[in-house]
Amino acid sequence: MKKELKLLDEDGTETQLIESKHPDWEELSDPCPECGGTEFRHFTAEGGRYGIDGDVVKRRSDYWNSKRTLLTQCLSCKAVLQRHPAFDLLYELEEH
Ligand SMILES: [Zn+2]
Repeated sequence: MKKELKLLDEDGTETQLIESKHPDWEELSDPCPECGGTEFRHFTAEGGRYGIDGDVVKRRSDYWNSKRTLLTQCLSCKAVLQRHPAFDLLYELEEH
C-alpha cells in the first residue's frame, strides 16, 4: 500500500508526503521480507503525562495508547517497510 499526499504552503510551495506499508511485513520482530535483514531504522511518536520525582522526570502514563510508527526501514537493503506521512514533515529520509 502506498499513498502520496501533497501539502501546499500558502506561498504555493508543494511538499510531497508519502504513506506506505509493505504488505508482507507487520512488526519489528519480523525480518525484512525483501532481504531477511534484522536491523532497522525505526522512528516513533508518542505522548504522555510526565512528572518530576526528585531530580528525575518520570513518565506516569501514555495518552490514548498514542505510540505511532513514523518510519521503519531495513538497514541492509534500505527497503521502507512502513512510513507515516508525518515523517516527511519532521525528517529527511536517508536513503543510505
Ligand atoms: Zn532488507
